[in-house]
Amino acid sequence: MNFSVPDFDVGIIGGGPAGSSMAAYLARAGVSCVVFEREIMPRPHVGESLVPSSTRVFKELGFLEKMEEAKFPYKFGAVWTSSEGKSYKHDLEGLEADCRADIRFEERAQPGVDQNHTYHVDRGIFDNMLLHHANGFGAKVYEGVAVQGVDFQESPFASIKYTMGKKESSTSVRMVVDASGRRTTVGNQLKWRVKDPVFDQYAIHAWFENYDRRAMAYKDNLTNYIYVHFLPISNSWIWQIPISETVTSIGVVTQKKNFAARKESREQFFWDCVSSRPDLYAGLKASDQIRPFKEEGDYSYSMKQLAGDRLVLVGDAGRFVDPIFSTGVSIALNCSRFASADILRAMETGNFNREAFNTFETTIRRGTKNWYNFISVYYRLNVLFTAFILDPRYRLDVLKLLQGDVYEEQEPEVLTRMRNIVSEVERNPKHIWHNLLGDLTNNAFVAAGA
Ligand SMILES: Cc1cc2nc3c(=O)[nH]c(=O)nc-3n(C[C@H](O)[C@H](O)[C@H](O)COP(=O)(O)OP(=O)(O)OC[C@H]3O[C@@H](n4cnc5c(N)ncnc54)[C@H](O)[C@@H]3O)c2cc1C
Repeated sequence: MNFSVPDFDVGIIGGGPAGSSMAAYLARAGVSCVVFEREIMPRPHVGESLVPSSTRVFKELGFLEKMEEAKFPYKFGAVWTSSEGKSYKHDLEGLEADCRADIRFEERAQPGVDQNHTYHVDRGIFDNMLLHHANGFGAKVYEGVAVQGVDFQESPFASIKYTMGKKESSTSVRMVVDASGRRTTVGNQLKWRVKDPVFDQYAIHAWFENYDRRAMAYKDNLTNYIYVHFLPISNSWIWQIPISETVTSIGVVTQKKNFAARKESREQFFWDCVSSRPDLYAGLKASDQIRPFKEEGDYSYSMKQLAGDRLVLVGDAGRFVDPIFSTGVSIALNCSRFASADILRAMETGNFNREAFNTFETTIRRGTKNWYNFISVYYRLNVLFTAFILDPRYRLDVLKLLQGDVYEEQEPEVLTRMRNIVSEVERNPKHIWHNLLGDLTNNAFVAAGA
């Protein structure tokens, strides 16, 4: 190791959306950086439906044109469907829920976004494109290189240890960005990972060709939306995401204990869950499954810290709870947006201590706490979520959250309103919604987001 000049200013572990957007922000500003990606791109990945707050990052990085050229299916909004046809009146507020709801992003003007759509993406293609984009700004990219750990003791620089095949090597850097996703490479090394006390989610998913998306669309223009189909099993739902004109991604999300309790194969579990929505089941059975089922588990956790001396954790490496509002990629991109600003300042001042990354850490904690609360309401009382969407008093405030604008406010008013109604329903066993409460603990929402 050279003790006067490191090999790179910044070493980034992981070439997913968090790592490649970080590399693009830094390289564009003239910072020398390297990305280590263990896979050879393109590689498949879960997380195919974006939210509009991603667009700000695409614009800042000059990547929006490439998104348009790639012709990913446009995502104009979201639809929620349930198998029940009831509406439930709420005594105090006149709130009513329905068995379905839809919303278009263009209903609320979003500063800095200026387009009525975001995208559904094939993550193999999208991640590869963004990594190449970073490379185009001058970021060095190594694929097929797995980082084994980081030595922060070799002051004045950190040393990233990696393997390329069987060969071991290391690189010196001024600071490290852990963008290694749910593998949380450095978070694990430092023992910062904390399992979520409430959520313990599990998902199983695959791609289907020639599934007729009109089967579940109750209006003509809804076929290219993301669909969330509620299931009668508690805390469970299905995503339906268009990948192309003919390919649709379908995934079942449930609590891990629901899967474990069934004692059946994962395929059987998938089809049993889908069969609780007969229209969807018939549509999928008439289509061709073109990718094997893949499971995702153990994914609800947070980190004790998102930054340390010479270190930030971005994207899933910092936290992941649940995919219900399709937020993961947007959070990953916005982490890089906020953290790169702190890193550029650190490059100027030469101060790489934890406090230098304070703006990033507090902004992201505020945003992810809001997400956590929103997710918790959804799971605790599904019916309240659709009731708020359908109510003109709350619709645009909920839409703001769904668009991914969660970072500015300590707690958006609409979340406080939801919190109060959930508490009221919990306290009153005679409330018409009381028996609809989900079985996550009742303090899930109150204690959320530490
Ligand atoms: C069931 C499920 C459904 C989801 N659905 C959505 C959705 O619809 N929309 C959405 O926005 N998000 C969704 N997500 C979340 C989304 O997948 C993630 O939030 C997003 O991929 C995070 O990006 P990232 O860059 O932080 O991590 P990743 O995309 O996981 O990228 C991390 C990269 O780091 C590499 N890596 C890991 N360890 C090392 C190492 N030691 N050395 C080198 N490289 C390494 C990996 O190979 C990977 O390429 C979903 C998640 C789950 C579990």
